[in-house]
Amino acid sequence: MFSLDLRRVFPSIAVLCLSAAISAPAQTGGAAQNAPAAPPAAAARPHRLEPPPAPVTRAAILRGAYGPYRANNDLLSYHLDIRVDPEKQLVSGRNTIRFRMLDDGNRIQLDLSDALKIDKILLGATPLKYDRDSGAVFVDFPETLKRGQEYAIDFYYSGRPLTTGRFGGFTFGKDPDGHPWIFTSCEDDGASIWWPNKDQWRDEVENMEISVAVPNDLVDVSNGRFMGKTNLGDGYTRWDWMVHYPINNYDVALNIGNYQHFSDKLGDLTLDYYVLPGDLDKAKTQFAQAKGMLEAFAHYFGPYPFAEDGYKLIEVPYAGMEHQSAVAYGNHFANGYLNRDWTNVGISPRFDFIIIHESGHEWFGNSITAADRSDMWIHEGWTTYLESLYVEYRWGHDDAIKYLSGVKSKIENRRPIITERGVNGDPPEDQYFKGALMINTLRSVINDDSRWWPLLYNFYQQFKYRDIMTEDVVAYFNRETGMNLTPIFNQYLRHAEIPTLQLFFDPAAGTVSYKWRADEPGFTMPVLVGQKDHWQRIVPTQKWQTMKTTLTKDEFDVATDLFYVDVQKF
Ligand SMILES: [Zn+2]
Repeated sequence: MFSLDLRRVFPSIAVLCLSAAISAPAQTGGAAQNAPAAPPAAAARPHRLEPPPAPVTRAAILRGAYGPYRANNDLLSYHLDIRVDPEKQLVSGRNTIRFRMLDDGNRIQLDLSDALKIDKILLGATPLKYDRDSGAVFVDFPETLKRGQEYAIDFYYSGRPLTTGRFGGFTFGKDPDGHPWIFTSCEDDGASIWWPNKDQWRDEVENMEISVAVPNDLVDVSNGRFMGKTNLGDGYTRWDWMVHYPINNYDVALNIGNYQHFSDKLGDLTLDYYVLPGDLDKAKTQFAQAKGMLEAFAHYFGPYPFAEDGYKLIEVPYAGMEHQSAVAYGNHFANGYLNRDWTNVGISPRFDFIIIHESGHEWFGNSITAADRSDMWIHEGWTTYLESLYVEYRWGHDDAIKYLSGVKSKIENRRPIITERGVNGDPPEDQYFKGALMINTLRSVINDDSRWWPLLYNFYQQFKYRDIMTEDVVAYFNRETGMNLTPIFNQYLRHAEIPTLQLFFDPAAGTVSYKWRADEPGFTMPVLVGQKDHWQRIVPTQKWQTMKTTLTKDEFDVATDLFYVDVQKF
């Protein structure tokens, strides 16, 4: 996902640094020349004003928690079979939900926006009772469902879904020629704003059928492999799509419009593109970038994850969204991001940001998925890092580092990236940029690219098609490196601020003392200091250490392009 205007949730609250963090002891002319001056006593951490947490609503808890009526079952498949009426702006149909019980029980939790009507819920021919509560639908069964058994229910619904959120949720729009243009994008608000499902991130179906009936003159492009279309004889045509892989609910998409189709191949992988007729020529030029993207990410992580479903780009009127195997594209067929240099360092205009970023999510977000929304940095931090890998693959390491340096100004460091687990909410935008810079820092900590590339490749390979948590990421890197990287991950992910390297110079003694100031107990991390091209690797802890240096305070530098840290010299 990506948005142009980063939401600043609390724009009116200034970041306050209440006091200078450091007060170095006064230097006296009488100090013995060869004795290093004492580093200052532990300085107080400056306090930043963190915004208060948003109030937790009942809907956020019901949506966010993996409660007992979710945990008692495991999704197997969906068949979403609906009709979309552009004139009346209505959706109607059913979702057939197959699941296996993990425990005996007679109630399960599904979700559907209160704005939509439940027509009936059937187990075979038996109507089921249900309770609706703040977007949740608790379905009751007349007899106990048995652990280990598989069941299927048909959930019939209808109504006009809400148009909401940054990208529209579910939008009945028009294209510039006046044809209906209907699209979905619901990661923030949840798929249950337009179809009934188990609306959470931890449990995914193994596969999914999507059948969408639309007026005969329109096309529906959804996720997965196109299986065919059927004229229903009543002015509508049903378009059938088959998703052969696990899929996040929010990735399930409708794109209904007057689309023109063209296709290409990369080896055996089918590439299918759907755009408005007037954009066909521009798209044929711009979408050629998809091949280089696929090659770059396959180089680092392994083949495109959804080969059986193919890769698609579909024009939409909003910026873009990583709908699995059906990436939504709205970047004006131009490089950069909405005609801008995204990181303001001259690299972004070389490529189409939306093709690279949203497609990067096929590996991180769609194939590897965070099991809880609070761990969403696994999607956005990694995919932002993938942007830099694309740059590195195409133009080399220096440009990748330069590209990443451009995201620093977007970081706020005011709230931890990881938010409260089990409560539906938005992690801060730092999850993108700070997440990427943390991963780049990790590369510098490991300090050996011949280890780094296999680590990345194997990380993806180990967790592909799975839902994971931050703990899985940390455990993997600890195990595979033999290092204790937990304090580093914790400092960047679970605290608002980044580590600060404090440097205390004693010119008379020709020394510099150094330590980390960090929130995380036990935080220690190597860093490169001195001068570029002659970096010296030191391992500061949270206690002062002293080393000789011939460099002055001004000459003494820190590799902040390789390590995302603050530096204080005094
Ligand atoms: Zn994204």
